[in-house]
Amino acid sequence: MLTGKVAVVTGGTRGIGRAVVEKFLRNHAHVVLCGSRQATADRAVDELKTVDPSWYVEGIAPDLTRYESVKGAFQSVLERHGHIDILVNNAGVSSREPFAEYTPELFRRVMALNVESVFHCTRAVYEAMAAQGGGVILNTGSMVTKSGQPSGMAYPTGKAAVDGLTVSLARELGPLGIRVNAVAPGIVDTDMTHSVPPEVLAPLTARIPLRRIADPGEIAGAFLFLASPAAAYITGEILHVDGGALI
Ligand code: NAD
Repeated sequence: MLTGKVAVVTGGTRGIGRAVVEKFLRNHAHVVLCGSRQATADRAVDELKTVDPSWYVEGIAPDLTRYESVKGAFQSVLERHGHIDILVNNAGVSSREPFAEYTPELFRRVMALNVESVFHCTRAVYEAMAAQGGGVILNTGSMVTKSGQPSGMAYPTGKAAVDGLTVSLARELGPLGIRVNAVAPGIVDTDMTHSVPPEVLAPLTARIPLRRIADPGEIAGAFLFLASPAAAYITGEILHVDGGALI
């Protein structure tokens, strides 16, 4: 579904991002994954190449919280490949600290990665996409924009901002041929969820209509659909992939 496309996936070393990278590779995209450190990016690339040595995958590690770092890294991807067709803004951190313990520094750190990086990466790539006649930008939202969280309020706040960015940029960049959508996962079996105590997770899972949390591959399928020509007329959409959760 993605033959000849170059995709950049932030947070592509593990979890949902890693599943997106693998799904895109199986669909014949060239994938550039971003890690928080070059060593973890390289390790992910090595592991993927043991699955299929013919896959084209490379790793980079720009500081997503600094625009100049992202701009420079994406520029060298453009120099190597000539185009970036798909950008997946997926890197993120969660926090569960109660409001009374929330420091301004923690608030800024969550917003820098979960919101500002989405702006930085999109800003760094959209001119090239416009010049080539179009592209696809996919953001990672969350079901917490519907439910909020009992603690760790910067996380749902940031994800609500990502929704705002998604629908606004869909309107502004649509005339340039750039589609902007988001996938909003429910609870997914990744490192992020492993830090949630079982006594908190179990009652949440029991309330999900499908009665289980998601495998990262099930989230990656939604990214593949939205990146593909099957979604050519879809923009400004926030696709909830949460087992029907109304938590
Ligand atoms: P994860 O912790 O397994 O992966 C997070 C990814 O972000 C990793 O690849 C990591 O390298 C990257 N990252 C973290 N800090 C970084 C930094 N400072 N600089 C660059 N990259 C950094 O978590 P995940 O569940 O795979 O999360 C991926 C996305 O999905 C996040 O945006 C998260 O908010 C969102 N999400 C997750 C769930 C869930 O239940 N797991 C639910 C809804 C949304």
